[in-house]
Amino acid sequence: MKTSSNQDWLARSQAAVWHPCTQMQHHAQTASPSHLPLVPIARGSGAWLYDFDGKRYLDGISSWWTNLFGHANPRINAALKDQLETLEHVMLAGFTHQPVVELSERLSALTGGTLGHAFYASDGASATEIALKMSFHYWRNVGRPEKAEFLCLAGSYHGETVGALAVTDVALFKDAYAPLVRHAAHVLPSPDFRLAEPGETPADVARRAAAGLADWLEKNGTRTAALIVEPLVQGAAGMAMYAPEYLRLARQLCDQHEVHLICDEIAVGCGRTGTFFAHEQAEIDGKPIRPDLMCLSKGISGGYLPLSIVLSSDTIYNAFLDDSVARAFLHSHSYTGNALACRAALATLDIFAEDDTIAVNRQKSAKIANALAPLADHPQVRHLRQRGMIAAFDVISDDPHFSRRFYRAALQREALIRPMGNTIYLMPPYIVSDEEIAHLGEAVAGALAATLAG
Ligand SMILES: *Cc1c(COP(=O)(O)O)cnc(C)c1O
Repeated sequence: MKTSSNQDWLARSQAAVWHPCTQMQHHAQTASPSHLPLVPIARGSGAWLYDFDGKRYLDGISSWWTNLFGHANPRINAALKDQLETLEHVMLAGFTHQPVVELSERLSALTGGTLGHAFYASDGASATEIALKMSFHYWRNVGRPEKAEFLCLAGSYHGETVGALAVTDVALFKDAYAPLVRHAAHVLPSPDFRLAEPGETPADVARRAAAGLADWLEKNGTRTAALIVEPLVQGAAGMAMYAPEYLRLARQLCDQHEVHLICDEIAVGCGRTGTFFAHEQAEIDGKPIRPDLMCLSKGISGGYLPLSIVLSSDTIYNAFLDDSVARAFLHSHSYTGNALACRAALATLDIFAEDDTIAVNRQKSAKIANALAPLADHPQVRHLRQRGMIAAFDVISDDPHFSRRFYRAALQREALIRPMGNTIYLMPPYIVSDEEIAHLGEAVAGALAATLAG
């Protein structure tokens, strides 16, 4: 069947595609304030997405935080075309290939050689589960099976599969499935700096939250396997940001109590917060702290292909080496280490090196700060905040449809900006130009004014 207009694709998608994280009825109810427009995309180029009717949208949230260097990036496209003609996929049990070896070596180098063993999967939630299973199995392999409990932070998000929900603390995603989830995790206070008491700095909030961790470990450290954190920014909690001090103290406490520190860098890794990995902003003796296990996904493939990676330390890896198969890490996915996805990741890392992306982003994040600065004085805006290429603020509004109204108003202003509750944030691709940053700033201000005017 030939289909060429938005309207045709809308109808066909609503009938045949069950969209993620969506009340499908909201797509259909066009007259209701709950209406959520479905936008059929014909093609993408740079920071822009184009629909079938010739309208365009600036991708202000990097297509769910995945896209780093724009849509249809010529350099990533060229690498993928070459890979496609060479090897699209081969099973990774018993076989290996150039992209997976090179990617593993380069990621190890980016951690200063401290996380030298790369395990592959396809999505972030699987990476979380792999990290939890590795930690648990490590303690069993070293003869301490009682260390089987996990710790996570209030508001944490580590994915939505049944296993990953055990360490996710977002009611919207978790409550309906609570009976399915294994309660092997304890939720600790978040270092979110919006929780500051009068006179407290972000570092004070971090120390207060770390004292909660210290208390818990004092009593329960012997049965705790790992603490999992989203370093510096808790994304799905509403871009909750916190001081690196928390990670520094958490690293020390985990060492003291023999508990693994898992850094979930799925959203904040790959340059998003101003360093290649967010945890590098926490230092001990002038050196970046390192986790025992690290999860990567989202941006690592440039937003091209599903790919996730768990990097592990030598200590953890070595505890699985034995004659016995039962002591091995028995986990696999059919597409583990997919060659195309690994090649997209290598092309993405090449761009970081060739363009000095981390340095360029410093200027871009200053421009983003300038574009949003006027909102700091808005009477309904609170906690305007930023960490590298993530900027966010909260809006005082008791309109239950605030986020959808804002989303629609932003689309009308040629911008894809999808609030989380009353939190509006920008997380654009790194190739965003000065003019495009200005466009996003105007879209935010205009959509906010229109939404609050009702
Ligand atoms: C998105 C995300 C995940 C889950 O990744 P999926 O690929 O969506 O399963 C896990 N942790 C964090 C911090 C994320 O932002």
